[in-house]
Amino acid sequence: MKITENVEMLEISMNMLGVESKIFPTLIWDDNNMILVDAGLPGAIKTIEDEITRTGLSFDKINQIIVTHTDIDHIGGIQDIKNELDHPVIVMAHKDDKPFIEGEKRFNKITPERMAQLQEKIMSMPEDERKPLLEMFQNPTKSKVEKVLEDGTELPCCGGIIVIHTPGHTPGHICLYFKKDKILIAGDLLHIVDGELRGPYPHNTPDMEAAIDSIKKFSKYDIEKIVCYHSGLYTSNPNQKLAELTEK
Ligand SMILES: [Zn+2]
Repeated sequence: MKITENVEMLEISMNMLGVESKIFPTLIWDDNNMILVDAGLPGAIKTIEDEITRTGLSFDKINQIIVTHTDIDHIGGIQDIKNELDHPVIVMAHKDDKPFIEGEKRFNKITPERMAQLQEKIMSMPEDERKPLLEMFQNPTKSKVEKVLEDGTELPCCGGIIVIHTPGHTPGHICLYFKKDKILIAGDLLHIVDGELRGPYPHNTPDMEAAIDSIKKFSKYDIEKIVCYHSGLYTSNPNQKLAELTEK
């Protein structure tokens, strides 16, 4: 979906352990840059490429990837995209998630009980589907982060992109504010449920208190549109709704 002249919200189908859902990576561009925000699961490259082509844009123009955080459904596609393109692609992420994205440390959000459940589920699947899933959990994909982002970093392209450090879901989770179009890219901090803007999900947010404090940081921005990675576009009075979320 084209949100503004230079911002496209992609809509990609995702199958995670047999559960179908949608994800919404974002593309923003200007004359010299095309930035993909979040890169899907391992193996997502074909669907991402097809969706970009469908919208009339050129996959080959991607020269930067920003990841909002280290989770597999955000970083999984990076390496394939880099391999596919014959020019350098700069990967950017917050410094606190860099060691996880690069595989130097494991970010353990999955409890041992949950891991056991997942393993059981995977082992019940057909053999050809099993291998890539086991690989994903036992030997997670990693990617080099070429540029480290910090709270307040402003990328001087595409009308200005401000990095907002929003820990809670992961230590180095970030949201992005596209200045020219007043768009907030919320990653996994915000969700839309039955048309209503919602805060982080407790079941996958290890530090809920930090996540709520993160939402408070948006009060100084004039926000007209929000893109939630797992639920799409929200446009109904964002600033007021965000303020309400932190009051509850
Ligand atoms: Zn996610």
